[in-house]
Amino acid sequence: MTQTAEATTETTQETESGPRFADLGLDDRVLAAIQEMGYETPSPIQAQTIPLLTSGRDVVGLAQTGTGKTAAFALPALTHMAQAHDAGELGSVPNTLVLAPTRELAIQVAEAFTTYAAKVPGISVLPIYGGAPYGPQLHGLRRGANVVVGTPGRVIDHMSKGSLDLSEIKHLILDEADEMLRMGFAEEVDKILAQTPDDKQVALFSATMPKAIRRISEDYLNNPVEVSVKNKTTTSANIRQRYVAIKHHAKPEALARIMETEPHDAVIVFVRTRSATEEVASKLNARGFTAAAINGDIPQNLREKTVEQLKDGRIDVLVATDVAARGLDVERISHVFNYDIPLDTESYVHRIGRTGRAGRSGEAVLFVTPREQRMLRSIEKATRQQVEQMSLPTISDVNASRLERFSERITETLASEELEEYRGLVSSYVTEHDTPAEDIAAALVAMVHDGRPLLLDEKAEDELLREAKRGFSERGRDDRGEGGDRGPRGDRPSRDRGPATAGPGNAMYRISLGRRDGVAPGHIVGAIANEAGLNAREIGSIDIRPTHSLVELPEKLSGEQWAALAKTRIGGELIKLEKDSGAPAGGGFRKREDDGERGGFRGKGGPRKGGFGKSEGGFKKKDKKARWH
Ligand code: AMP
Repeated sequence: MTQTAEATTETTQETESGPRFADLGLDDRVLAAIQEMGYETPSPIQAQTIPLLTSGRDVVGLAQTGTGKTAAFALPALTHMAQAHDAGELGSVPNTLVLAPTRELAIQVAEAFTTYAAKVPGISVLPIYGGAPYGPQLHGLRRGANVVVGTPGRVIDHMSKGSLDLSEIKHLILDEADEMLRMGFAEEVDKILAQTPDDKQVALFSATMPKAIRRISEDYLNNPVEVSVKNKTTTSANIRQRYVAIKHHAKPEALARIMETEPHDAVIVFVRTRSATEEVASKLNARGFTAAAINGDIPQNLREKTVEQLKDGRIDVLVATDVAARGLDVERISHVFNYDIPLDTESYVHRIGRTGRAGRSGEAVLFVTPREQRMLRSIEKATRQQVEQMSLPTISDVNASRLERFSERITETLASEELEEYRGLVSSYVTEHDTPAEDIAAALVAMVHDGRPLLLDEKAEDELLREAKRGFSERGRDDRGEGGDRGPRGDRPSRDRGPATAGPGNAMYRISLGRRDGVAPGHIVGAIANEAGLNAREIGSIDIRPTHSLVELPEKLSGEQWAALAKTRIGGELIKLEKDSGAPAGGGFRKREDDGERGGFRGKGGPRKGGFGKSEGGFKKKDKKARWH
């Protein structure tokens, strides 16, 4: 434990058994919701933050998206609200305000909050953000919301309209505080903090701790405890680490393809929740693998039995949560799949340490969704090893490997089985039916596959996996890197960059609106981020010229994104996006992500899903039992 002038710093000391949700001082109804979601243990940031927040302390949490920070602040606030509800003190005036830098994050946090609040009676959660009409938000506020999750600009707008009453705020949470400042929201954040009651509890979460965040913490937090997660770890050199950039719903297919094309022995697949262990195991079984689920709900003796089955080869795949796989030592594990990225780097190291046992080599494959790029960076930093990108096998790769195994199996059977009796059967069929032996063999193959095709349809190669193969742009990763207080474009603020040239993986695009049309960088970021579903961080430098503007975006946009951008308007005018011919541009502005709040143009009407929703999973039925060895 180290002391700073104003705050106490605590660092995780993970014990083997670790704390349980039930030990953190949470209300039973909140615990019941967590249980239902299938979370088994608190993540390190949760284990440290929740007891402090439930006891009323202010907290500064060094944590990024993907560490479980939403639950870290939501569960204590909900515990207090549940108590207030029981005491008849929970009115309809907002009790909790969460400030988030972007519309996407505001929606995501509001959704998570709603799920965590499922068993606390009478809690309503409302996201408010720019780029959307005021009407529904005003209506929601009038109806009464206990939890408001908003982008700073829109919160200020509602405050000045008198539609948002902050006089009863008991919890104020600054989520991704560094990102809010980087986007130019310092003034708004200050104003909101200053205009909320003095006795509120404040929790500030930030991935980095630049001076400006320290200043906010000193000015507005009351003797906060500073919490961070230890992440110095090492990994064994005999484990090859790779990652696949992928959207959530493509994971089942990706897993099956890799397993079909990479020679493997036993495999362990790590997922985040109990329900996911069952889901993924049953999808793998449907695809012909022998998989079993282990999680904290399964009694210890049964878990041990399953592990025995893995050891002696009766099953090949174990789908597990971290808790269930703790201490697992099975030599034949050749592959560890991080199907869901772990919530902290230590878990990553524990997980991949399940392979490469007894001096063997091992393979670790990590699935990373676009939102999780930063965790990938943290893993690389913590393990001091680069995790190399791998591309997904195509359907033709899968088919090639199916054919190879098919002929191997025939060769093996010809060599080992007692075939005399069957030979006799075939030759009498040939004679009786005057059918060539080849046809009979073909019919037997069809019988073995139970009418399902041996090979997949190569025309079905889908956009999803093409996207996964492309991966993230390098710059996307760099921008999410940790590096203290930096400009809006990481370490190369657009203003200083001279000619508008795109960074690696990016290209310059031209839009037909410029200064004369009253366009500001915030409008462009808001419109493109909201309409094309691009993350604000994927939008680089913006250069506004008199009659048009140049904007740096990922080099490859999907068909869907092009279609959305073709319909995108700013101030009612189509932006007419096209790739720029490459002429250099001077100047450039600092972009300011305000979700279009100032532009007065309308984004999409209602809340939109973040884009990488829950798994829809499922393999095509025809794939069932497609494996033959
Ligand atoms: P966050 O960092 O809050 O965005 O959370 C990242 C992801 O982890 C979300 O999908 C959460 O649902 C999930 N999550 C949060 N806490 C836990 C936990 N203790 N166990 C399993 N999953 C969790």
